[in-house]
Amino acid sequence: MKKLEKELRSHIESHYPALYLVTHERHEADKLITNLSEGRKSIEWNMARGLVDFKTKRPLMEWCDLATALENLLDQELNEHFIILHDIHLGLKDQPLAIARLKSLLEKILINTEGVVTVFLISSQILIPLEIEKFITLFDVPLPDEDSIRDIIKQYAAVYTPDVEGSTITKLALAFQGLTRYEIGQLINRGYQRDGNIGLEDLDLVQTEKAQIIKKTGILEMLTVKEKLEDIGGLDQLKPWLQQKANVMSNWSDARSFGVEMPKGVMIVGMPGCGKSLTAKATAALFNLPLLKLDMGSLMGKYVGESEGNMRRAIKMAEAVSPCVLWVDEVEKAFVGIGSGGSGSEVATRLFGYFLTWMQEKTSQVFVIATANDISALPPELLRKGRFDEIFYVDFPNKAERLDIFKVHLTKRRKLENSINLEKLANKTDGYSGADIESIVTEAIEQAFIDNKTSLTTERLLKVVDATHPLKEVMKNKVEEYQKRFAEMKIKRASKI
Ligand code: ADP
Repeated sequence: MKKLEKELRSHIESHYPALYLVTHERHEADKLITNLSEGRKSIEWNMARGLVDFKTKRPLMEWCDLATALENLLDQELNEHFIILHDIHLGLKDQPLAIARLKSLLEKILINTEGVVTVFLISSQILIPLEIEKFITLFDVPLPDEDSIRDIIKQYAAVYTPDVEGSTITKLALAFQGLTRYEIGQLINRGYQRDGNIGLEDLDLVQTEKAQIIKKTGILEMLTVKEKLEDIGGLDQLKPWLQQKANVMSNWSDARSFGVEMPKGVMIVGMPGCGKSLTAKATAALFNLPLLKLDMGSLMGKYVGESEGNMRRAIKMAEAVSPCVLWVDEVEKAFVGIGSGGSGSEVATRLFGYFLTWMQEKTSQVFVIATANDISALPPELLRKGRFDEIFYVDFPNKAERLDIFKVHLTKRRKLENSINLEKLANKTDGYSGADIESIVTEAIEQAFIDNKTSLTTERLLKVVDATHPLKEVMKNKVEEYQKRFAEMKIKRASKI
């Protein structure tokens, strides 16, 4: 919060006319503004009460809508003023008059060279009409960090149960991350009402609360997974790497005190059907953490204007349910058009900047797995060290891996007979993806069933192989282009060669 306060102060002193604060905690925003006001006169408008005195919240006149409030402000002599507009997304939505007047006010402020006048736009959502976009600077008011949460718990503990142990406070503080002060207070109250104590038994309430948050907003999907690391054939560089991160994640309290850095996540790029999604799922199971999926394709698809707000909400939500694994599928879709100058380009650029900064500064226990097929659209900044812990490239499986994948899928369906010659199958499937191999196995099993439930043989499998066109062949040109790019970028291979 101190960092944000400093940044806001420097913007105010540099005469930025409009600062947009995104927050679910309006009291926190008010506190911040009070700290920054330094005796300036502060006038507030909010949807419920109209124009009010910022400090006392007493109405200054009869209720009016934003457009009227702004007209009133335009008529006033403004000098060393803070203007605080709460619920701004409600006030501006489909209100051309309010937008036009806000624009006039901001222009007037820019011309006024005498005192500092700053307009604060405050909302939990981002709604910035194009007409005033260039006047506005956007800020996220952070949710309470671990130290602040610790203070909140201590305040409650002092009243309820003064003898809560330090280690319990630490564990609760970690679990409460991602929630607002209000939500934390409510949970502590509920936990205390239940058994007259504040302790680790309240952690289940935290999980239920976080699941609620996800359901309410509907941007993320919470997946239940059963895939295990053993279900992945090959990828023998990637698997031990994940295992190591799993050790850190599951002993995070100890690891942190030892000085280990919080893992940020991994980017897995490469050929379709070769196990990227499978790995994302198996990782969540390996870490024993909930898996949240953010589908970039659909996030970007709906309304470009809403994508940015949705991305912020998704990230905040992932932090709220942390510790968790956040799988960002088709991450390349978010970055199409960056720098192209097209209409979606500005949003994409801002969205990208937000994502990068979040990855860079992330301290929450959200392990990100970003997957992408097409790397040509990915901006190089994303691939630079410091964003992800590692970037892996998944190619078509080599011979040993194909053998392994056949084994995985035959075992899974209890059809791995000794008589099946895996070597032969692996030899005959150069250029086939993991998904191709899976479908060969399922197809051969189905044929064997129809054919009087005969047992599965190498010959039958080979016949299906012959009848199947491998993905590599189907998308030949693209594959060559991708492979060339991956080689140029020197990305680490997920497989041992
Ligand atoms: P993508 O790389 O496009 O995300 P997926 O992980 O969705 O590919 O793969 C599709 C299916 O193919 C998986 O559900 C799995 O059954 C099979 N598959 C792909 N790669 C492997 C692999 N390395 N080991 C075992 N199965 C695999």
